[in-house]
Amino acid sequence: MLNKVLIANRGEIALRILRACKELGIKTVAVHSTADKDLMHLSLADESVCIGPAPGALSYLNIPAIISAAEVTGANGIHPGYGFLAENADFAEQVENSGFAFIGPNAETIRLMGDKVCAKEAMIKAGVPTVPGSDGPLPEDEETALALGRKVGYPVIIKAAAGGGGRGMRVVYKEEDLISSAKLTRTEAEAAFGNGMVYLEKFLMNPRHVEVQVLSDGQGHAVHLGDRDCSLQRRHQKVLEEAPAPFIDPKSREEVLKRCVDACIDINYRGAGTFEFLYEDGNFYFIEMNTRVQVEHPVTEMVTGIDIVKEMLSIASGNPLSFTQDDVVIRGHALECRINAEDPKTFMPCPGKVTHFHAPGGNGVRVDSHLYSGYTVPPNYDSLIGKLITYGKDREEALARMRNALEEVVVDGIKTNIPLHRDLVVDAGFCKGGINIHYLEKKLGMDKH
Ligand code: ADP
Repeated sequence: MLNKVLIANRGEIALRILRACKELGIKTVAVHSTADKDLMHLSLADESVCIGPAPGALSYLNIPAIISAAEVTGANGIHPGYGFLAENADFAEQVENSGFAFIGPNAETIRLMGDKVCAKEAMIKAGVPTVPGSDGPLPEDEETALALGRKVGYPVIIKAAAGGGGRGMRVVYKEEDLISSAKLTRTEAEAAFGNGMVYLEKFLMNPRHVEVQVLSDGQGHAVHLGDRDCSLQRRHQKVLEEAPAPFIDPKSREEVLKRCVDACIDINYRGAGTFEFLYEDGNFYFIEMNTRVQVEHPVTEMVTGIDIVKEMLSIASGNPLSFTQDDVVIRGHALECRINAEDPKTFMPCPGKVTHFHAPGGNGVRVDSHLYSGYTVPPNYDSLIGKLITYGKDREEALARMRNALEEVVVDGIKTNIPLHRDLVVDAGFCKGGINIHYLEKKLGMDKH
């Protein structure tokens, strides 16, 4: 049983995890860098340990420092949150080898899903629909590669097996460019990730990003918690998410949700996870699995009433899932606006002192944020400073509540993307629902399609 958890993260997600631990009566250990000594959750944690200087490599990515902190404080579990070490298989392995519970899947699963070629192969085996393509590495042999490109049909996308965060991808529009593009992507992937393996997929022209949340106990029980739409993106970064995804073909949805659950059983998945899909013309195409809690998990919590972080802690304690698929009911609609400390025009990060913060409130409003008046956003980390989440009996009500929340929220002293969100929640296309992944960039005048 977990009785003391070290939170190996910072910002809003560290606070989110701390709150879940406290609800469950689990003691908490916060770790932080020297740049983060004023983080809100440090004062709420039972103990806190400084693990190093500001650069991530010296603190939040410093595996020995984190494991030592767990040892000296007597923690028995480590929650990695998202980002930093959350999907680092070596970290998960060292945590478990040092005798702590890693609150996430085992290292083998993280490794499997971190290699996108292996992940895709595992999904094909489990019957999850994937994007048509090489279904394995793109063959080095030129004739075979060209024949494959012809079979799949142009445009195609070449992707690095070890890629992530939108890096290591190249779209190829005509056959003449396939071989040179494949070579270039291999060289870049080798330099960036130390692994030059690439694969090929059909390039979908106007897909939506729809993902499926799962919980699986690694003891033969798995459930899905429905889907989320995260199509509103800029440079592959999600900006505003919602659950459930609007206008999805009910039969395709039912099928894909079932396939995701089957895949969890098939790979004996443990913890919370997300299957990411592109959705086009009523069909789902798997692109990758994230083996961690995601930034946008609250929208799913709002429509299911299930606390995903508490379930992660329960699973890591060795408990079987305490409910079945029939207990999961999707009710109403939820939206999440990611609030970033950035210039709303240039999107450049905008750290600095928050002179005044006022959180919105009211029925169906949730704020996940570590901000407080007087807090200084350090320049060293990503610019997410909070998430505004609203719930309503339907999308209309959730939207109306989000408009109110965005009107009420005050973040003075730094620039934020709140003005962008205020535009988005009255945007005709978004309000209608079902926009594709190019919508925001087109609106911002930066789309080249
Ligand atoms: P990463 O791990 O780098 O995020 P993904 O495989 O999740 O890589 O792809 C990131 C984004 O790239 C997707 O959200 C989508 O916008 C685009 N993309 C990836 N594969 C395809 C594809 N086959 N067709 C069209 N767009 C794609």
